[in-house]
Amino acid sequence: MKFVELARVYEKLEATSSYNSMRDILAKFLKAAGKDELRVVCYLTLGRIAPHFADVNLGMAEKMVLRGIADAGNVQDSSVLADYKRIGDLGEAAERYASAKPQLSVKEVFDGLHSIAEIGGSGSQEKKVKLLSSLLQRSSSIEARYLVRIALGDLRLGAGDKTVLDALAIAYTGSKEARSVLEHAFMICPDIGKIAELLVKKGLKAVENVNIEVGIPIQMMLCQRVESLDELKKRTGFPVTVEQKYDGERIQAHRLGRKVVLYSRRLENITSQFPDIVSAVEKLPVKTAVIEGEVVAVDAKGNVLPFQVVMQRRRKYDVAEYVRRVPVSLRVFDVLFLNGRDLIRTEYEKRYALLRKIIKKGKSVELAESTLCNDVKCAEDFFQDIVQEGGEGIVIKSLSGEYQAGVRGWNWIKWKPEYVAGLRDTFDLVVIGAFYGRGRRAGKYGALLCAAYDDKADQFVSFCKLGTGFTDELLDELPEKLRKVDHKPARVEAKGILPDVWIQPELVVEVGGAEITKSPTHALGFALRFPRFLRFREKKPEQATSVREIKKML
Ligand code: ATP
Repeated sequence: MKFVELARVYEKLEATSSYNSMRDILAKFLKAAGKDELRVVCYLTLGRIAPHFADVNLGMAEKMVLRGIADAGNVQDSSVLADYKRIGDLGEAAERYASAKPQLSVKEVFDGLHSIAEIGGSGSQEKKVKLLSSLLQRSSSIEARYLVRIALGDLRLGAGDKTVLDALAIAYTGSKEARSVLEHAFMICPDIGKIAELLVKKGLKAVENVNIEVGIPIQMMLCQRVESLDELKKRTGFPVTVEQKYDGERIQAHRLGRKVVLYSRRLENITSQFPDIVSAVEKLPVKTAVIEGEVVAVDAKGNVLPFQVVMQRRRKYDVAEYVRRVPVSLRVFDVLFLNGRDLIRTEYEKRYALLRKIIKKGKSVELAESTLCNDVKCAEDFFQDIVQEGGEGIVIKSLSGEYQAGVRGWNWIKWKPEYVAGLRDTFDLVVIGAFYGRGRRAGKYGALLCAAYDDKADQFVSFCKLGTGFTDELLDELPEKLRKVDHKPARVEAKGILPDVWIQPELVVEVGGAEITKSPTHALGFALRFPRFLRFREKKPEQATSVREIKKML
């Protein structure tokens, strides 16, 4: 397949905002892709060259891309810069310097981009620029526009993973109903290229039976919540396992022979941050395994320390020093794969029995505190004990429950002190925009536009303007944490209050608030009154509080 065909599809997708039209355009296009190209085409339609978790990065800043365009067009950087300033978009600026006949294949572009990503070491910047330039020299104007946007990691099409899964269902099964099968498979194996390939080569049944592959992260299961512990009677029944809910960072550890990989809840590879956990997992008496737990900071006696302490371990530099300064322990609560056996559909009671065999109390790893309960009173007592010792709450787990990958299912139910007081949970919202500060906050961002996630439309919908609860240090950190873009990002819906700067919907913040009121000033039609920043969350934007959950609270 020629890259220009893909570029034309990008153009069509860019011009449409309707979810259904996007899905249909994609379905038609994906159907036309050859069996052997489908994997590559799927990644590229999402503006990527590998699945999210693979951490493959082109490593090209705007300046480098600009130099690549100038090099390809044989002009001065300043000339491209002037165009960029005038047009406001580097992709469109690149069009002006591209005049080749369409000749690139999708595969050539994919391989070229991979080569750029692989270059490292000294002189890597120059080499990356040269490689991009050579692709641009062989590009027509429309190809150059999108090539540059992919290189910048800013394709800005409205299509996300869900749209592509939906389109695949239509293209290769002829029915929308297959979407739920594909979505479920994507929870167990969040590699869209792989799912597509399985579908086209082995059929829907093979997708339905997709298994865990050690090394590929599984989307993590989440908890439901109840109004009162009495509700357990109808939700899970008894007996149940009741566990301490730790307030640290969720880790999914994959062990394949001697190799260990750790994934965060956002499915990011965080192996290098926790060498101590890696060596503890290396010592487990298993050949292959996927286990899950919460990593917490501990004092010399092994007591759990607050969340803020473990957060100091979230760093790329000075790791060895912080391993010494902030000792941690992984409190393990699940096993999804063990010695060649996929346990995702196995009931929790059996998974837990296996877990007990492999996890012995050690310095850096031990089982989560838990008890077996036959009635509400027992769960209540355990909860009181945990909270008195400073714990965040409990998680109640159905003994017969499967591991519901990526789902907020009823097999896990959380219970926290604030629920007892009848208080509402806080909101986890996605930052979609920022406002410049005034007065003391001049020169910084002073407030953020935050959105809830609409899982039906796969969009981020504005819900509140957040300006309270930030310390000066936090405000200083914001520009580094937020990726600003010069246009409203794809999949973002906002109206009424619009920000000074649009932000890629990537960062999730926990927000407290007084009440939800009707409001025309936000796209959701409702607004959170008196929102207050609480903390940054280690969540994917699609795991933020959903529009559906907010509507249930009204
Ligand atoms: P909250 O905002 O209430 O902390 P959340 O939205 O982050 O919750 P939930 O799905 O409600 O996520 O709660 C599950 C999270 O709790 C997990 O992602 C995990 O990080 C943490 N956790 C701590 N202890 C346990 C445990 N014993 N079992 C399961 N999850 C646990």
